[in-house]
Amino acid sequence: MSGDPGNEGYVPSQSPRPGDEAPAGTPGAGENTCRHCAGKGRMPDGSMCEDCNGTGVVLSEIGGA
Ligand SMILES: [Zn+2]
Repeated sequence: MSGDPGNEGYVPSQSPRPGDEAPAGTPGAGENTCRHCAGKGRMPDGSMCEDCNGTGVVLSEIGGA
């Protein structure tokens, strides 16, 4: 399909507003600091933390052991 410039402006509900940067993680989703690397995302030896994949945070379900 091609040739419909007016339709390109349509965006779904996810439309970021200028000047309003929301973090990817939403509160209540169970985002916690990774204990394995203490939120650094890396191990003391410099390797990437396998628990959080280097993000420093882990998503844990509420009520999960
Ligand atoms: Zn980690």
